Amino acid sequence: MPTQKTTKDKKDSQQSRPPVVVILGHVDHGKTSILDYIRKSKVAEKESGGITQHVGAYQVQHPVKDPLSPTGQANKTITFIDTPGHEAFSAIRSRGAKVADIAILVVAADDGVKPQTKEAISHILRLELPLIVALNKMDKPNILPDKVKKELADNKVLVESLGGQVPSVFVSAKTGLGINDLLEMILLLAEMNNLKADYTQPASGVIIESRLDSQKGATTTLLVQSGTLKNKDIVSAESTYGSIKSMTDFLNQPLDQAEPSTPVLITGFQDVPPVGEEWQVMSSVEEAKVKSEAKAIKEKHKRDHAEILKVTPGQKIFNLILKADVFGSLEALRESLSSIPKEEIILRVLKAEVGDITENDLKLAESARANIYGFRVKSRADIDTLAERKQIRVRLSQIIYELIQLVRQDASYLLSSEIIRHDLGRVKILASFKQTGQRQIIGGRVTTGKAAKDILFDVYRDEAKIGSGKLFQVQRNKENVAEATKDQECGLSIDSEAIIVKGDILELYKEEHKKREL
Ligand code: GDP
Repeated sequence: MPTQKTTKDKKDSQQSRPPVVVILGHVDHGKTSILDYIRKSKVAEKESGGITQHVGAYQVQHPVKDPLSPTGQANKTITFIDTPGHEAFSAIRSRGAKVADIAILVVAADDGVKPQTKEAISHILRLELPLIVALNKMDKPNILPDKVKKELADNKVLVESLGGQVPSVFVSAKTGLGINDLLEMILLLAEMNNLKADYTQPASGVIIESRLDSQKGATTTLLVQSGTLKNKDIVSAESTYGSIKSMTDFLNQPLDQAEPSTPVLITGFQDVPPVGEEWQVMSSVEEAKVKSEAKAIKEKHKRDHAEILKVTPGQKIFNLILKADVFGSLEALRESLSSIPKEEIILRVLKAEVGDITENDLKLAESARANIYGFRVKSRADIDTLAERKQIRVRLSQIIYELIQLVRQDASYLLSSEIIRHDLGRVKILASFKQTGQRQIIGGRVTTGKAAKDILFDVYRDEAKIGSGKLFQVQRNKENVAEATKDQECGLSIDSEAIIVKGDILELYKEEHKKREL
């Protein structure tokens, strides 16, 4: 039967693929240092041509024992998601895409389990990701690895040496201690998990990194998760599509095709797709366009449906980017933002992410005219300089209440100011002397209050308002005066669309514009 044949074909085309590894852990515990050490020690300088640009992922080869090989060894590939912090990983995860096969939980042996370690553990457990604990900074003198292992056990991570299932490795990103053990452990775990993909079908995967190059346009790192991606393929992401113009590996070397678990750098997307979007190869540009447009609409609705649906005429939108040290803080920040009144101004969170302020945040802030609010995060000096140059407001605070106050204050600039009317007096018109267009010279008597220059008035005829205008000059006995008071007769130079005649009443007033706060 045809269905049986299809199933069989599918089974046959499944082949093993390299593991995709993500490194998580508390800030400063050494995630970046471990990734850098592996990259530097395993990717030959000549291969990379000295290029050390981060494209969001890289691959290394590591030898394992292979009795079938003449040398008794075979090189196996590992793909690392290589983004500072776990920002990208969280973006990907928040979109629901699965990217990593194995997680390395980095814990500094001199510091132990910290808030972000706990966050990372809860995500790893929820995603049921195979896990390796890397106890880092083992070169340091004041380490307490056993204590750290116990802390991990208290947080549902029981390492093998304490009778659990989770392998742990002692490493030092400074000296390189244990890095080979870590790589071996990754490959072992990958083999145990029997990672496979279909190499024959049209490729699909996830966007790992994405930026706008002034010359090349959208430059995007794709992770191929299934199928084989070919140069010139037509690719549809969720928010954009394109036909691949150039395709290179993470070292910028041209590639004709890329198999599962390979990160590739491509150009050719019409727009810059956000990190975490899923992509797939389509058979024609038309099909890709239709697909990405439909998806983009759906995505947009999903992302900001609350805002989109609720915007009513007169309401203004205040765009913001939120950054926080851990997911919990981010949630707390979002929660507190919801206390700000929304009748007039809608706070649209364009991005809410864990991690320090990055250049990507500035790019988004610039294009969307957004402010950035960071809770318990840092910004680097170069980021500050760039933000200043681009006139992007970056607000940081360690206190959530303070940050929310700053949001209120900043968003209040969008509020139209409150106009308070102060009535000043009335003038009864006794004569009209001259009229040139709207400019008129009239004479009258102040019946209440006073008449002064540079104030406004409404015109009443038979108790009905017939127009309004502005008073420029007040004269008494043909002399300019600052004001005329009750019972005084005066000449007035005015501007009004209403032609003023004898018997009309001017009600004089002044407007005060008062800034309001949310
Ligand atoms: P991340 O925030 O987790 O990416 O941490 P980093 O990789 O930026 O490391 C934080 C700090 O710890 C840096 O100053 C590193 O030089 C230092 N560091 C990282 N790994 C080690 C290590 O194995 N030994 C020592 N002595 N210092 C380390």
